[in-house]
Amino acid sequence: MPQPSNGCDALNPMALTVHKYGGTSMGSTERIRNVAKRVAKWARAGHQMVVVPSAMSGETNRLLGLAKELSPERSSPELMRELDLIAATGEQVSVGLLAIALQAEGVQSVSYAGWQVPIKTDSAFTKARIQSIDDQRVRADLAAGKVVVITGFQGVDELDNITTLGRGGSDTSAVAVAAALKADECLIYTDVDGVYTTDPRIVPEARRLHTISFEEMLEMASLGSKVLQIRSVEFAGKYRVPLRVLSSFTPWDIDIVEEAKSGTLITFEEDEKMEQAVVSGIAFNRDEAKISLIGVPDKPGIAFQILGPVADANIDVDVIIQNVSHDGKTDFSFTVHRNDYARTMDLLKSAVIPKTGAATLSGDTKICKVSIVGIGMRSHVGVASKMFSTLSDEGINIQMITTSEIKTSVVIDEKYMELAVRALHKAFDLEQAPA
Ligand code: ASP
Ligand code: MG
Repeated sequence: MPQPSNGCDALNPMALTVHKYGGTSMGSTERIRNVAKRVAKWARAGHQMVVVPSAMSGETNRLLGLAKELSPERSSPELMRELDLIAATGEQVSVGLLAIALQAEGVQSVSYAGWQVPIKTDSAFTKARIQSIDDQRVRADLAAGKVVVITGFQGVDELDNITTLGRGGSDTSAVAVAAALKADECLIYTDVDGVYTTDPRIVPEARRLHTISFEEMLEMASLGSKVLQIRSVEFAGKYRVPLRVLSSFTPWDIDIVEEAKSGTLITFEEDEKMEQAVVSGIAFNRDEAKISLIGVPDKPGIAFQILGPVADANIDVDVIIQNVSHDGKTDFSFTVHRNDYARTMDLLKSAVIPKTGAATLSGDTKICKVSIVGIGMRSHVGVASKMFSTLSDEGINIQMITTSEIKTSVVIDEKYMELAVRALHKAFDLEQAPA
């Protein structure tokens, strides 16, 4: 039987396929009916189907908002346990509704909450990590010809507490379920039709990528591209789950072979990519703040003395820069998430500076990080310098730089972000498909 070359086995009967639907796709009973019709089409084409939906759009915010009305507190372990119990109900409603909609389409279907599978996690409420997934119950249902609908976002810890995986966590649930079942492909249906060279709201010429390497996707997700939750990409990489991001807005009855080839495939084969663009995408992130300690004594252990307490407070540090020293003093700058800015400044004032000494402490929340990403950077020189010259031509001052094998990031003034992204998109010819 002929197989589509660049798509999941749409014609392969018995292929095990996982679909994930985001909140927008699940946003009303009408939309849920459309999801059911699409899933029914795949099931009738012979696929074994597992579906992982998010909560109906807005629902998680609504639920967490109710909790906030009762307590402004956000971070005690007791409170976080309750937040997870509350937020997880959104997905429970979704799976039940979708199973009913499938049954109404004449498709046998059963829904499960995370604890019923079970999807076991650690006990880090509001950001739990999946530890194991028992596939027995799901396999038995699939063997009996049922479509299995499993909650995204939630799991259960060893004390039977309900946990959640963090905002956007349903992506990770879907990929983890696909990994546990060794699915042939995991399709993430969302409100964009794939992964773009950059955000089309900023650069209208942004182009959808037909494929992106897993490593590039990982960088894009960690650098601010919001298409997939980063942990889902990590999972896909670790278990080599074939992953595709595609639109949930196509009509449900589009040809299944077309559908199976649409969107963006996250690929593990890099050889074919090597001939392609040096830079595949531009990511940006407005969520960081910069902190500088000017005139700290330049001696062994200073970085640890500054950043040790920050790490102990569970604050993630991103870009770090230490200058050359003058007269035994140096300047030390780093970035943290904007939400952690005030806490970090307090910590430096109260616990760090009294011990290390520093002439001045300054901070800036009006910064952004712009990054170029591409595995082609490994085999090409001059990519970073082209980035710097492009920004210089636009009169944009670079405050910090970091690089890795496949990305270069700069920290610049937030007000130049859009200008920088547009200029870089053009400079690296991203509006044109690589030859
Ligand atoms: N409903 C959860 C959220 O809004 C999980 C998800 O949608 O992926 O974050
Ligand atoms: Mg999402």
